Amino acid sequence: MDPSSRSAPSQLAPVSVAATEGGSGLVEAGAVLTIDLAAIRANYRELSRTAAPAAVAAVVKADAYGLGAAKVASALIKEGCRTFFVAHLMEGVSLRGAIGPRGDIFVLNGLNPGAERACSEAGLIPVVNSLEQLAGWRNHASRLGKTLPAALQVDSGMSRLGMQPQDVARIQADPDLLKGVETRLVMSHLACADEPASPANERQRQRFEALRAILPAAPASLANSSGIYLGPAFQHDLARPGAALYGINPTPGRINPMRPVVSVAARVIQTRSIEAGEGIGYGHSAVAASPMRLATIAIGYADGWHRRAAARGFLGDVPLPFIGRVSMDSIILDVSALPEGAPARGELVELIGRHQSVDDVAGHAGTIGYEVLTGLGNRFHRIYLGE
Ligand SMILES: *Cc1c(COP(=O)(O)O)cnc(C)c1O
Repeated sequence: MDPSSRSAPSQLAPVSVAATEGGSGLVEAGAVLTIDLAAIRANYRELSRTAAPAAVAAVVKADAYGLGAAKVASALIKEGCRTFFVAHLMEGVSLRGAIGPRGDIFVLNGLNPGAERACSEAGLIPVVNSLEQLAGWRNHASRLGKTLPAALQVDSGMSRLGMQPQDVARIQADPDLLKGVETRLVMSHLACADEPASPANERQRQRFEALRAILPAAPASLANSSGIYLGPAFQHDLARPGAALYGINPTPGRINPMRPVVSVAARVIQTRSIEAGEGIGYGHSAVAASPMRLATIAIGYADGWHRRAAARGFLGDVPLPFIGRVSMDSIILDVSALPEGAPARGELVELIGRHQSVDDVAGHAGTIGYEVLTGLGNRFHRIYLGE
């Protein structure tokens, strides 16, 4: 618990983003998360161009990496996207509610025992990862007296999910294992796609080709975001990007071909001047070497900002370094570089945006952009652009 930051409801001055406000709550919010749906659509077009003639699905698991699966899917449907991947069955159920009866929704984690009925009733397609899951789905199809669609996932060398070569051999020996099951997709997942020089990529591709040749003929899918950039041999019939849609660089170390999607800004809730020798924040992990000015902003590790992240915010073009530890609900910034009197209470400090990308922030925290996005909490005032 971080007692210093439990403040009374604030009476904050209007700020510049007020013009783009969609509803109420902006002034009350400590931090603002802006999601550019037009940029997500542009990224989908870019990925489609790169992967063509392969089709491009959208991976919207974990609420579209924290950005709002219903809004993201609706925006992508306008770009012609008709195939979506979620991780959990219940994510698929809520996505089906949001997008209506059309469009394929694949459930990557497959079927828990007994979950077959919920899956078929919501019109979801399970990614079958084992012979046990296949048996559950086949038996459910037989109970219903219907053919049910499935994706068959093979493990081409990630050792996480999917049928192993001996499972595929069993299906080859006994095609009745697929009775009542329509193979809509054969897929696998790359472990090292973001390392183009890794020999694991080509090894996985070859194993995938060998395994899918044994299974019923169906569209094939191997590439995630980075996989698309490994070239045509990895693109098959359907690519499955997530991260790149949301602006994360699928080509680490090279120029990001995607448009930025997310910006995050947090409000200044208090400023102060301190003398040399004063300790700053929990554990006094920082001590002022000389007199300095500080501003406290309303975002913390409860909002997904790593406690030990060394990072900075920006006001205009001026970088404002974090100083001391990140608290649950607040972060202290060194604002000595700003003119006297700045920043004003209520001003918004940019944390992700024009000066600092999701990938930059991840680098400061020693993690990846995926974790930064999915970690953003539910206390943000959300603004959707391009709805
Ligand atoms: C998460 C996931 C994806 C999307 O990966 P990105 O790197 O975000 O593009 C694709 N396929 C599977 C099986 C996944 O789990």
